[in-house]
Amino acid sequence: LAQDYLGRIKADTTNSFISVTEEIALQQAKAADERRAAGNAGLLTGLPIAHKDIFCTEGVRTSCGSKMLDNFIAPYNATVVEKCAAEGMVMLGKTNCDEFAMGSSNENSFYGAVKNPWDAERVPGGSSGGSAAAVAAGLVPATTGTDTGGSIRQPAAFCGITGLRPTYGRVSRWGMVAYASSLDQGGPMARTAEDCALLLQAMAGFDQKDSTSAQRDVPDYSTSLNAPLSGLKIGLPKEFFNADLDGQMASVLQAAIDEYRKLGAEVKEISLTNVGLSIPAYYIIAPAEASSNLSRFDGVRYGYRCDNPKDLMDLYKRSRGEAFGEEVKRRIMVGTYALSAGYYDAYYLKAQKIRRLIQQDYIAALNDVDVIMAPVTPTPAFRIGENTNDPVAMYMEDIFTLSLNLAGLPGMSVPAGFIGHLPVGLQLIGNFFDEARLLNVAHQFQ
Ligand code: GLN
Repeated sequence: LAQDYLGRIKADTTNSFISVTEEIALQQAKAADERRAAGNAGLLTGLPIAHKDIFCTEGVRTSCGSKMLDNFIAPYNATVVEKCAAEGMVMLGKTNCDEFAMGSSNENSFYGAVKNPWDAERVPGGSSGGSAAAVAAGLVPATTGTDTGGSIRQPAAFCGITGLRPTYGRVSRWGMVAYASSLDQGGPMARTAEDCALLLQAMAGFDQKDSTSAQRDVPDYSTSLNAPLSGLKIGLPKEFFNADLDGQMASVLQAAIDEYRKLGAEVKEISLTNVGLSIPAYYIIAPAEASSNLSRFDGVRYGYRCDNPKDLMDLYKRSRGEAFGEEVKRRIMVGTYALSAGYYDAYYLKAQKIRRLIQQDYIAALNDVDVIMAPVTPTPAFRIGENTNDPVAMYMEDIFTLSLNLAGLPGMSVPAGFIGHLPVGLQLIGNFFDEARLLNVAHQFQ
């Protein structure tokens, strides 16, 4: 199996992989065969996986899609990588992504843009674009992604696969290079909800190495997949399903929601009053945290160092100036500004207050309904280059995904249909730690 997939990766035309770890894969595959022969294999033993190149992997480059870490080899595995390996999964490589997970199109990668397997002129979404494209192109059956503001769900939607962003704290962040620590969360990307259930089972759980990891038991996600949906209460936020929603998108989503009605669900309109403020709030909070997290890349401790620095200040300035890409620099500037004395109250504190209001809206809505359904993206995958000169247009692509991260909630993108030749996703949002229900709801549709 590993050899077959490695052959497919060699013939890849999507640029989904930054590193292919053939040697490790063949070793792990051999160990998996031995485990199977010894009778102690699990369901995932021997199955190939690729990790977003933001999860640290011992002895293998972890680039974060950045020139800054092009030469960085982590001395340890991220907990997620470790847990997948413990199940006997076989790592085929590290997938392409936007630099430090900042982006919505995978065009901000030092290793070049990823092409959407459905249409090579279009983006796969971002920032986990390589992870989504690799699954959609059949290069690997499962991948990991991270979702700070939509980076699992949006590329899953653009590539026609299933992606789950767990509740904040459900999956350990240890060894996952930090972008915005209060929003980052790793999760599975695969073809189906059933596959995502198995993967989340492997990845989830308390980790004492991550201080924000939740001390809660992990339920058996596979056993509840087939629970009937009669009586399920679905909420549709009126702020999302309004006249601004693209007509074709609205009809694909309506058809999906009608299927849920046929399965016995009740559908009602709900309101998330403050959700319209997600973009401005997120694009203050995420850059603020990023500016702080990325201060560790100073040309001394990790990664890139400029040639012949004159003095320490020159070393800092030139190493960072030469190795960070445009978008990362923009976020560091915005974040540093928002956190500076005199502006902190006006921007950062204000954004945090809005964040709380958005969370309260969700908590109130989820007291009343079991699942919220929403679009994932305003349109299907856009063209490579279409939004690159307009950062605000790019940020607007995240309009349906960001609010959930601000609230800390879990969400999924499930393939819902097509507009022309391009796939479209339906978003499912659930209550804190209610991933089992999301997987069940997604599975019944598939
Ligand atoms: N597009 C968003 C951003 O650029 C989300 C990225 C993510 O979830 N990592 O910040």
